[in-house]
Amino acid sequence: MTSSPIQTSSFDVAVIGGGPAGLTAAIALGSAGARTALIARRAPYADNRTTALLGGSVELLERLGVWARCADQSAPLEVMRLVDDTKRLIRAPEVKFRAVDIGRDAFGHNIENHVLMAALEARASELPQLTRFDADADGVTPGDDSVAVTTRTGETLKAALVVGADGRQSLCREAAGIAVTQHRLPQSALTFTVTHSRPHKNVSTEFHTAQGPCVFVPLPGDRCSVVWVAAPDEAERLMALDDAALSAAVETQAHHILGRMTVQPGRHLFPLSIERPQAFARNRIVLVGEAAHVLPPIGAQGLNMGLRDASDLAGIVASAVAAGDDIGAPAVLARYARARRGDVMSRTAVIDIANRSLLSDLLPMQLARAIGLRLIDAIGPLKRLAMREGLAPSWRS
Ligand SMILES: Cc1cc2nc3c(=O)[nH]c(=O)nc-3n(C[C@H](O)[C@H](O)[C@H](O)COP(=O)(O)OP(=O)(O)OC[C@H]3O[C@@H](n4cnc5c(N)ncnc54)[C@H](O)[C@@H]3O)c2cc1C
Repeated sequence: MTSSPIQTSSFDVAVIGGGPAGLTAAIALGSAGARTALIARRAPYADNRTTALLGGSVELLERLGVWARCADQSAPLEVMRLVDDTKRLIRAPEVKFRAVDIGRDAFGHNIENHVLMAALEARASELPQLTRFDADADGVTPGDDSVAVTTRTGETLKAALVVGADGRQSLCREAAGIAVTQHRLPQSALTFTVTHSRPHKNVSTEFHTAQGPCVFVPLPGDRCSVVWVAAPDEAERLMALDDAALSAAVETQAHHILGRMTVQPGRHLFPLSIERPQAFARNRIVLVGEAAHVLPPIGAQGLNMGLRDASDLAGIVASAVAAGDDIGAPAVLARYARARRGDVMSRTAVIDIANRSLLSDLLPMQLARAIGLRLIDAIGPLKRLAMREGLAPSWRS
């Protein structure tokens, strides 16, 4: 990666935002041969989230030369176990999904986001096609032939295409004139890491409570990352507990399956919402990652979709460059929107319904959920289909 340039420069693509989706998009685009600017202020990764990288995500990171740098700090996910812990009259059966049943060693790998980010940053810094602007963008102005971008440190640049990877409060989305609908959920997610006295055996366990799932996802060693979704008041109460009290509470919530638990330093609280932008691309600007979709952390889909955004975009841009097309032209943007719409909309809908069915006090809803999970558990081909679709949409393979 070359260092900060002098004044106005021209690029094929400018990626704005250096979270995991933006860095992956910049690496994929730079590797595909596009002259790429990455406008992202360097800062330590601010929270302790982990990502269960599913389906094609690990393969993508392998292809991009990222995975070899962090694979040894990830844990394979061989079994996913769902436990109905709603204590309601009508409950779903416990369901275990085993990767081996669909011919895989693992569904994916769980990794701490700060570890993944360090590997992405290291790879990005090697690419000669990638120029880093270590600053936030403060102006994004689409024109007929290019988009003008200014940074807070006074640089200006032009690009035929801008990639909005700037998260939930996306400046790029606003500049493109794309409205977003936001549905706040009556839930927050508390994240932290625990050590435990019994091995997790690469099994990820989700306890579905009446307020949301509490998930234990394996990390290397006798450690799990915990995502505990609860009503906002309850999540705040848990957040405020001291280490001993939170350790006891989480051990009880886990029904002691991992033995004695000890909470590690660092906790974060995330208010949950579902966000759907009106469009994935407009006016030479495309959206990736949370600028394009926000989901609650159910089924570990958010960043996996963000990585598929990056992968699809790089393929479309590479074809346009090879054909000598204008990569910001409406036809290229339409191709990207078509590629992403089905995946993002279907997953958002399924997760929304799964979450509503968990929170619902209505007996018919609880019955439908219990029957649905019972059928998935009992019918082998249906179970295998659910596992494959959970990893990535089948129409991509
Ligand atoms: C509790 C929890 C657990 C999760 N677990 C999983 C999981 O297991 N699997 C999974 O796939 N997903 C998971 N997700 C979702 C996943 O964390 C997100 O999808 C992902 O982090 C979003 O990455 P991003 O790069 O799109 O956005 P962000 O990480 O928000 O990055 C956006 C970046 O843009 C920068 N930025 C903003 N404005 C500007 C600007 N004007 N100029 C330059 N830069 C700018 C910001 O500083 C930031 O660095 C989880 C989410 C939560 C809340």
